[in-house]
Amino acid sequence: SYRGIVLALGASGCLGGLVLVAVDGDLIPVQAFTSTDPGEGKKKLVVLGTGWGGMSFLKQIDTRQYDVKIISPRNYFVFTPLLPSVTNGTVEARSIAEPVRRMLSSTGKQVDFYESECVNIDAVNKKLLCRDASNVRVKGKEDFEVDYDYLIVAVGAMSNTFGTEGVKEYCHFLKELEDAEKIRESVVDCFETACLPHLSDEERKRMLSFVIVGGGPTGVEFAAELYDLVSEDLASLYPSVKDLVTVTVIQSGDHILNTFDHRISKFAEEKFQRDGVTVKTNCRVLKVNEKDVLVKEKATGQEVHVPFGMAVWSTGIGTRPVLTKFMKTIGQTDRRVLATDEWLRVKGCKDVWAVGDCATIEQRKVVDDIAYLFEKADIDKSGTLEIEEFQRTMEKARERYPQLEVYLQRQKFRHVVDMVKISPGDAKEKAMHLNVDEFKKSLAQVDKQLKLFPATAQVAAQQGAYLAACFNALPKKDYKPEGPERIRGEGRHRFRQFQYRHMGQFAPLGSEQCGAELPGDWVSIGRSTQWLWYSVYASKQVSWRTRALVLFDWTKRLFFGRDSSRM
Ligand code: FAD
Repeated sequence: SYRGIVLALGASGCLGGLVLVAVDGDLIPVQAFTSTDPGEGKKKLVVLGTGWGGMSFLKQIDTRQYDVKIISPRNYFVFTPLLPSVTNGTVEARSIAEPVRRMLSSTGKQVDFYESECVNIDAVNKKLLCRDASNVRVKGKEDFEVDYDYLIVAVGAMSNTFGTEGVKEYCHFLKELEDAEKIRESVVDCFETACLPHLSDEERKRMLSFVIVGGGPTGVEFAAELYDLVSEDLASLYPSVKDLVTVTVIQSGDHILNTFDHRISKFAEEKFQRDGVTVKTNCRVLKVNEKDVLVKEKATGQEVHVPFGMAVWSTGIGTRPVLTKFMKTIGQTDRRVLATDEWLRVKGCKDVWAVGDCATIEQRKVVDDIAYLFEKADIDKSGTLEIEEFQRTMEKARERYPQLEVYLQRQKFRHVVDMVKISPGDAKEKAMHLNVDEFKKSLAQVDKQLKLFPATAQVAAQQGAYLAACFNALPKKDYKPEGPERIRGEGRHRFRQFQYRHMGQFAPLGSEQCGAELPGDWVSIGRSTQWLWYSVYASKQVSWRTRALVLFDWTKRLFFGRDSSRM
């Protein structure tokens, strides 16, 4: 539950209907939508996926205007920020899952749901090939076709092994509910096996070595949850082996949590050090064997074997097979996720939109604007750098790409960020200190990073809500062509481009401590932040049922500890 995010007010709030997506007077190219003419029957709108993006769209879409179908192999929605809490039994799996049909019926919407997997998207003929992948199916009738007029792709992503040998065979992932349950079972299994009488000390030690590959928010939160489980519950239940337990986080960068403010990242590293959780930074995993991972230390070039009883791989996300195939047909072969424009339309085909982890907006514009300003302004001579224009551009950039500031700071360009606040009068002196070449280099780096929109529930939910609002407003706009349209660049536009509003992010660090980046550049760390985390995530549950279950699980853990039975 990191990037986790003060899903507050926004992210998951979209599902709770809290987010307002302004559409009137906003801009989207006219050719983006073909109108829905109620006289000719409703247009067929198909949504792929029942995750954050898909369900946020469905919550908002007006089904009186469209014939809506949803297709997904999962007939439930998962509140992913609490997945790490399922791995140690703090929260039960079913407490964070809400059936899709229940969510739809509570809104009174007329939507058909097909529990199946889309295996092929034919954007030319507007047909989807779907497959019933469940255990119960009619033999010979597994596959069927679905037509669409408009398609919303929200299939999310899968764990990325980056082709590392042995990962699929020997590591756990932490992406789906089943993954979290398997991890929970596996941890307890390691403890039980380590207690068997015929094992050597070395085997016992290996069995209780837990390795987490990836020091991002998911990996760090899982490590923290694991530490809590061991120290608060298992240590007293398995006294004979408790001292043999080790937890190691392997991270390729020089810090863990490097998408967070450096204070949170530092706090996490220091806390892990106090807790005895080993953090190996600047290390790349070359291969995973049955009993160990082979790690290369970047600084020394040395290769070391790190033994494990259980390993969790959490290094990033990759493309689902259906999209890899689809991307080939629309000329997007060199990418990891679908490229869309800023109205979320998939590039290279018609009437297909994509939201969430499976998509990224190619957004060069603001970065280009900043680069252009720096090129234009002869900083050393004039000093003024058209400071007001620069400030406006930076403000826009910060609003749209909250990570921009983080990257600039990391690249030691804090003074660039500070320039946003200085007055034109002071600009001359301050601007003199900028080294244009270095800044441009840093900007190139930023540009590279920004193309990858953060893969978070917050983004997916906002995109789903935005798109639904556009679709809902569309017929109205068609009937009132004199409406709030504007002329811009290459043609008429109706809706504003999608704009991401970053609401902050959480990093739970275990032992009732949490780090949070809050809106307005606030950073908060400690126990009180953990209470904020509890309240935000309780309030952001998608139904009263899951809210009650989660609160009950937290209370149960407080009084009775976590359940260590292996089912
Ligand atoms: P998903 O939510 O993954 O949904 C994809 C949907 O598509 C699923 O229903 C899936 O079954 C379906 N699908 C898959 N293949 C097909 C197919 N072929 N045909 C049809 N349907 C298909 N983000 C935050 O903002 N805050 C957090 O605290 C946070 N914590 C996280 C913790 C963990 C452990 C993980 C794994 C992620 C976390 N995230 C968090 C990230 C967040 O969960 C994702 O960014 C978000 O789920 C993306 O939403 P999505 O709709 O794109 O995809």
